[in-house]
Amino acid sequence: MIDMGDYPLWNSGFPTAHRSAGAASTASSSTQALRPENMIVEGRGTRVRDAGGRWLLDARSGLWNVTLGYDHPKVLEAVKRQLDTLPYANSIGYGRPPALAIEAAEALLPHLPAHMNKIRYFSNGGQAVEAAMLLSRFLHRVGGQEDRLAVFGVWAGYHGLGAGPGAMTGNTYIHDQSGPLLPHVRHAQRDFGPDGGDLVRDMREYGPERVAAVVVEPVVGEGAHVLSYDFLDALQRFCTEHGIHLIVDEVTTGMGRTGDFTRSQQVGIQPDILTLGKGLSSGYAPLSAVALSDGIFEQLSGVGDDRKFLIGATNDGHPLALAASIAVVESLTTEGILDNVQHQGTLLRKGLLTAAEHFPHVKAVRGTGLMQAVEMADPAAAEHLRLAMEARGVLVSTVAVSPAIMIIPPLVITDDDIAEILAALEGALAESAA
Ligand code: PMP
Repeated sequence: MIDMGDYPLWNSGFPTAHRSAGAASTASSSTQALRPENMIVEGRGTRVRDAGGRWLLDARSGLWNVTLGYDHPKVLEAVKRQLDTLPYANSIGYGRPPALAIEAAEALLPHLPAHMNKIRYFSNGGQAVEAAMLLSRFLHRVGGQEDRLAVFGVWAGYHGLGAGPGAMTGNTYIHDQSGPLLPHVRHAQRDFGPDGGDLVRDMREYGPERVAAVVVEPVVGEGAHVLSYDFLDALQRFCTEHGIHLIVDEVTTGMGRTGDFTRSQQVGIQPDILTLGKGLSSGYAPLSAVALSDGIFEQLSGVGDDRKFLIGATNDGHPLALAASIAVVESLTTEGILDNVQHQGTLLRKGLLTAAEHFPHVKAVRGTGLMQAVEMADPAAAEHLRLAMEARGVLVSTVAVSPAIMIIPPLVITDDDIAEILAALEGALAESAA
């Protein structure tokens, strides 16, 4: 846990070790005491400078969100211009949302799955997931199926914190820390077999007619487990057959992370509801979104005026974030960034596999695009590796339920940056092998 000591802030983190059903014991992602010299004061390109004056290669993109690096000229310019024009307008209430929301949606929609033509902007990823879950229940309810309450996910899936998204996140520590969270949320083991694995089996056993929705990350972020087309296709067919909404959480995988605007398009699945966040604004201002399939939107717009779906918060669709998002979409489409993800992802993966050959204490390398995991024997080994890389000037992530480090760098990373990450990794692995 971060020790906030004398600072005028409070914060917490995962405890140093806990168990989560279906997953290995977990490690803290923040066992270091907070030191003044470690605080971040500046960012340029793919690097950040700490208060101690050290420049570090940010191979975790902030919190996986700073996809275009820290000084992308178009995004900076767009946010500054917006600040001078209209720093705020409310997206909920009174029918006067920022006009920019339409511009942002029109810029993004052509790059989302073709059957999705409606978007609503929110502020953060967990909130988008929660809105998707509650919308699913709402639609079943107004359709006369009040008993369709269950929402299924997988152990070790991550969808945010708080009462709704924390319930969806497959981590028993989060479920238990403050007492009951959102009820009727269930998790299957991480068997991602081509028949839909445990997820389909569990829903079938539970009674599909009582299941509102399933929420799945197409690449499970905690450990970069890449779900196969066969698994996702089987899941989608099961959902379609039983009237269950397929909610695909692309808060991390969306907006270029795996080399396309969405992982759903890359693998060829058709979500009913899709969530985006993180890279949607490259982290320059908080933004997330929920996109709806034409079918879902048709159901929603068919609901009478007396039963509208009420959701949202003050900062949803914030104009500064929308301005950033328009610039991000333009950059992704005109600057060869998606090609760079494919190229650098391949380079990174090749290097990781070579490192795994040299160092038998690496248990596995997993991932796709610029979302890669290096799995170690246990969480302590992963945390040690993270710190040893940090000592070599490279920031990477650890995750709560997988004994792995995550290398998830900005999408604008260069060949030289990848070489630097791999050199730091090999140095750190040599140290931990000794
Ligand atoms: N869904 C996924 C797949 C995520 O990776 C995250 C954040 N790591 C979230 C939801 C939650 O997003 P936020 O932290 O912005 O609430």
